[in-house]
Amino acid sequence: MKTKILSYLSLLILLAMGTESFSQGKLSFNDLTRAESAVIKNKGTEMPFTGKFVDYRESGTYICKQCGAALYHSSDKFLSDCGWPSFDNEIPGAVKRTTDADGLRTEITCATCGAHLGHVFEGERLTAKNIRHCVNSVSLDFVPSQLGQGRYGTAIFAGGCFWGVEYFLQKQPGVISVTSGYTGGHVKNPSYKQVCTGTTGHAEAAKVIYDPEKTNYEKLLKLFMEIHDPTQVGGQGPDLGDQYRSEIFYMNDEQKNIAEKNINILKSKGYKVATAVTKASEFFDAEGYHQDYYFNNGKVPYCHGYTKRF
Ligand SMILES: [Zn+2]
Repeated sequence: MKTKILSYLSLLILLAMGTESFSQGKLSFNDLTRAESAVIKNKGTEMPFTGKFVDYRESGTYICKQCGAALYHSSDKFLSDCGWPSFDNEIPGAVKRTTDADGLRTEITCATCGAHLGHVFEGERLTAKNIRHCVNSVSLDFVPSQLGQGRYGTAIFAGGCFWGVEYFLQKQPGVISVTSGYTGGHVKNPSYKQVCTGTTGHAEAAKVIYDPEKTNYEKLLKLFMEIHDPTQVGGQGPDLGDQYRSEIFYMNDEQKNIAEKNINILKSKGYKVATAVTKASEFFDAEGYHQDYYFNNGKVPYCHGYTKRF
């Protein structure tokens, strides 16, 4: 009898562990901005030569803006002069082809979530493969490292000077890339100089791309709340001003709930949390010299450090 109870218990524990790892690996889709929605959901087309990735030459992987699925490798991108990012090959199984509503062209969508990507053309003789995936920039996000197949999560945190937030998050297992940038303001493509005037409304923020098989949003969020002071109002450490505010930019309701839950945990422990929780809007990458700042300059952060709070 005792053995039976024991094995029953271990079965329960195994089941619980199974559920836990499943929920860690599960990703919700990202909410879309209006401009993203016009293309991804309503199958619109962005104006030629206006997209972020038309002339982009970095090496890495292009992922679906809505679900984070890896779609194209930069090694398959070519400059086509058509005004949209062009690829002559996709990651196997990542892109679905259907006849367009016009009955002539072939529409391409994300095989995982159905996001509209653009169209595929054959026979133009632009590359040896003789295929051109003509993709809207707005349907894509970019990860500066070669990924395999699969889906990847996005998290955006602002907690003072982005160099420090990037420094700590980059070291986390499961984190694939961290990009420093600006978000939460009302000016398109702001420069660092503009953001520093305090008039654009942007916060310095870090955009994290992570592998949900190896980490999860809650882990990253908790770490974020422990590497900056979430109780400081109107700045971080010696950096004062709106651009250094503490803010979590959530990609979907699931992230919002996790953020609010953990802020409430800290509040119940007596922390007067000043961190705002806001729906993510467009994220603008910061200038190249801001990326990997501490790593490239061999310095350590002056205003961020780890303090256990959970
Ligand atoms: Zn997708």
